Amino acid sequence: MGIGADVRRPDSVTDELLQRLVSRVRGSGSTWELTEVYTGETLVELPQSTPADIEAAFAEARAAQELWARWPVAKRVEVFKRAHTLLVDNALKVADLIQVESGKNRRMAIEETCDPPMVMSYYIRRAEKLLKPKKHAGPVPVVSGATEVRVPKGVVGIIAPWNFPFATGLSDAIPALIAGNAVVVKPDNKTALSPLFGISLLEEAGLPKGLFQVVCGEGPDVGPTLIDNADYVMFTGSTATGRVIGERAGRNLIGACLELGGKNPMIVLDDVPVEEWVESASFGVFGNTGQICMHIERIYLPESRYDELKAAFVERAANLKIGAAYDFGPEIGSLVSPDHCERVAAHVEDAVAKGATVLTGGRARPDIGPAFFEPTVLEGVTTDMVCGVTETFGPVVALHRYRTVDEAIKLANDTDYGLNASVWSGDIARAEAVAARIESGNVNINDALATAYASKGSPSGGVKQSGVGARHGDQGLLKYTDAKNVAVLKKQVMGARPGQDYGAYVDQMLKSLKLMRKLGR
Ligand code: NAD
Repeated sequence: MGIGADVRRPDSVTDELLQRLVSRVRGSGSTWELTEVYTGETLVELPQSTPADIEAAFAEARAAQELWARWPVAKRVEVFKRAHTLLVDNALKVADLIQVESGKNRRMAIEETCDPPMVMSYYIRRAEKLLKPKKHAGPVPVVSGATEVRVPKGVVGIIAPWNFPFATGLSDAIPALIAGNAVVVKPDNKTALSPLFGISLLEEAGLPKGLFQVVCGEGPDVGPTLIDNADYVMFTGSTATGRVIGERAGRNLIGACLELGGKNPMIVLDDVPVEEWVESASFGVFGNTGQICMHIERIYLPESRYDELKAAFVERAANLKIGAAYDFGPEIGSLVSPDHCERVAAHVEDAVAKGATVLTGGRARPDIGPAFFEPTVLEGVTTDMVCGVTETFGPVVALHRYRTVDEAIKLANDTDYGLNASVWSGDIARAEAVAARIESGNVNINDALATAYASKGSPSGGVKQSGVGARHGDQGLLKYTDAKNVAVLKKQVMGARPGQDYGAYVDQMLKSLKLMRKLGR
């Protein structure tokens, strides 16, 4: 009998709680069996939303939004101050839910609970300043001026993936709500519980009922009605789905922020301190069982230190403790589902069949649980292999050697993706010079991924096929608003005066253009 069979569901995840959570879904269609990943046992039947349910969710959200948008920003922010406390106080319970539905290990579940409070802290500080009307100079000094007024989009549709269900279900909604919008979120069916619980905490903190709606279902069933009713779409998921969402949003002429996949490289320079690097790189590759959009799937090591660095990394990977437990024991948890485990296994099998070598790992572990896969290090991966070019999204990494830094940068950039990259060096300036040449929305220096993601003041998004737009930073809130340009002319001074020769007027106007430039206006 495997370890998984012995796992006991956390006491906090009671049948009563599960029923209460799923009753919040607007769903009158069929139901979907939501399972505990470690055991494969059914936890609860998740209601599925019909197009009529989704329309009703939007109608209720829209009515609630009209009232919410009239609240002063400071009053809206107060809700999130209380919510911050509630989320932190309930972190362990949230982590229980995240673990049962996603199978990730305890450390990652706890870290995930910290994301919405961190996002809240940033926007609690910034929202009033960002949303305050801003005065701008008009075309004619003194008698004209313009005011930039930030108007909420209305109802924002959020489509979230399963890998960080609580973070992606809640964190992207926080700036949307603070900006005065309502939200309709569609979590992944597999991982709807933790966002549902998070929303109940927001309501306990004073978020008006009806403002934050949840619809559930398979993406292609729910997506079209959701996008067609939304005023803006925030999507996190694969590049393939992002393209479908972006096309539909484009047809509807609404804005969309698309946070997509990656094939993230790490470049290790030849002066790297090995102990520090190996620990961080191991987390960067295997953290969340390799199911982090920003996790590392390609490592470029200098020829001069290849054998030493490879040995240290492979040893660390081989000794990672993998297991199914609701405590801090295992360093590596499960993949999200048996289907995903098969996909990861297929990437490894394809690479091996085409000549790659497995340095450690490489196998599924049904003896531990239905979706466990060993931390896997490959060598000899080439671009004709599936995992050489497309995202595996599992605990699998390829080691490559390089001779010159130019070559390493060229190889790192040789991808359709551009989400995250990592550069390691004993000399920060040297690493920064490399970072400047990497085509990526995020670059972590002397870290794999967490520093960039946790820097909530700096916008974070993908370039190339990794996305459009960004979350975090000021633009992470302003994207959920339209700028209304309200301009005032106090006196009719633009244009020729009655009886004035038009040539003389043009002459005067061109001179004043030069003057204004000199005055710095
Ligand atoms: P996915 O694209 O299959 O699904 C994501 C969400 O979209 C789910 O809720 C799904 O039900 C929904 N969906 C699927 N098809 C849809 C459709 N036609 N219309 C509307 N919705 C649809 O992705 P996934 O497998 O759940 O998540 C893993 C992917 O997400 C990886 O590629 C990972 O890199 C990416 N990701 C990116 C970020 C980021 O910030 N860039 C963060 C987390 C995950």
